[in-house]
Amino acid sequence: MKLPERGLDEGEVFRELDSYRENDTNWRAGKTWGYVFDAGRDIERVQKRAYELFLSENALDPTVYPSLCRIENEIVGMLLEHLDAPVGAAGTFTSGGTESILLAVKATRDAFRAAHPEIEKPEVVLPESAHAAFHKAAHYLDLKTALVPVDPTTLACDPALARSRVTPNTMLVVASAPSYSAGVMDPIAALAAIALERGIYCHVDACMGGFLLPYFRRLGREIPPFAFDVPGVTSLSVDLHKYAYAAKGASLALFRDSTLKSHATFSCSSWLGYTMVNQAVQSTKSGGPMAAAWAVLRFVGDAGYEKIARDLLEAADALRAGIGNIPELRLLGDPRMTLFACASESVSVFHVCDEMKQRGWYVQPQLPLGEHPASIHLSLNPSNVPHVPQFLRDLAESVACAKELPRGKTVQEFGPMLNAVDPDSFGPEMFSMLLGMAGLGSGAALPERMADINELLSALPVKLRERLLTEFVGLLFRPAR
Ligand SMILES: *Cc1c(COP(=O)(O)O)cnc(C)c1O
Repeated sequence: MKLPERGLDEGEVFRELDSYRENDTNWRAGKTWGYVFDAGRDIERVQKRAYELFLSENALDPTVYPSLCRIENEIVGMLLEHLDAPVGAAGTFTSGGTESILLAVKATRDAFRAAHPEIEKPEVVLPESAHAAFHKAAHYLDLKTALVPVDPTTLACDPALARSRVTPNTMLVVASAPSYSAGVMDPIAALAAIALERGIYCHVDACMGGFLLPYFRRLGREIPPFAFDVPGVTSLSVDLHKYAYAAKGASLALFRDSTLKSHATFSCSSWLGYTMVNQAVQSTKSGGPMAAAWAVLRFVGDAGYEKIARDLLEAADALRAGIGNIPELRLLGDPRMTLFACASESVSVFHVCDEMKQRGWYVQPQLPLGEHPASIHLSLNPSNVPHVPQFLRDLAESVACAKELPRGKTVQEFGPMLNAVDPDSFGPEMFSMLLGMAGLGSGAALPERMADINELLSALPVKLRERLLTEFVGLLFRPAR
């Protein structure tokens, strides 16, 4: 593709752009169970108005845009109040959970290094259920991860097992409130106690739960403390673009004290340009996401969020009960919030995902890992609530149809061979052959049904899966010329 010789007229640009969306999931229909946290048109309108108002403002320099400094301070303030944080707690607005986690882990690393300069490679004790963003942070920041297997029944991290992974090099213990994959709460007090006892740090990933769980508690659910009221918790990640319904690009990294926070700040005056001070990863950044988050928080308000939480809570109960009535499916762990994972011993969950897609739903497949089975992930959001009964009917029907479908043709043919090879010995040709086998050859569109590919990925060792995925996105993202 080339730049058009002359600019197109505005109408044409938007007609084109709109036409590009025809294969996207239609999240407004309430049939998408992930990726979008939609609480209706009014909130969407407020989001967009505020976003547009601040779209061009640049949060790079708080002295030029005092409005954005004030907005950030007020957002952090509202969240610290919401979480009953102690005086002295601080926070930074980021673009998402991943950036919040990256920032908190970086601050922790640098605070730890300042006290322990002799430790070359600090370690992070990481439950298997913790979000992939921690693996990414460890990879970017050159830290070692000590993975803690989670109990196959509860999917929560056993504190005794976590403690056994602590070494003199450990800087951080991670816990989730709740975990993404199955919506399970870790025993946060016990995990944070390990950190407190060793004089190290504890990060609670409350990207999902940080905003919503206080409402569930208020509505009578038993939600154990998970924030700074737990001794030993030193940082938290809380996404606003999930259950606070902010526009995407909105999350917070929260710190028990501003000293820890300052280890995340980067300032530079050893170049020829402007003096640069960044508290987060981005430098130039649009004021849009921040203004939109602020506007939605102000617009919905405490009572509004409580009302949405009540609807979610009822729908989550109905969903849990409904899944319990499908004998082939088994809900994993004891999910306390609005995230669920279900596995099956008798039917391929990947076929179930494909069958759901045929019926207009998006549900997310999760690959098996070690002794954990493959599962279907569901993130319930407000726009799904009215559709729960239909969802459950279609889920039961999808399970029945999936039972009749043959399983894993590609795996049966190639799995054993692939398991025998060393991923490091694979070259690009080998990968394109593999992708071809899975029906993902170069230039090929994504197949309508993904079960075969997911079965193949499931059968591969993790390292090979990861290599294959890298090659695969490399094929997807090629310049259109
Ligand atoms: C979504 C999520 C993240 C990552 O957040 P992004 O906004 O996708 O970068 C991290 N942890 C948990 C528990 C999450 O749900």
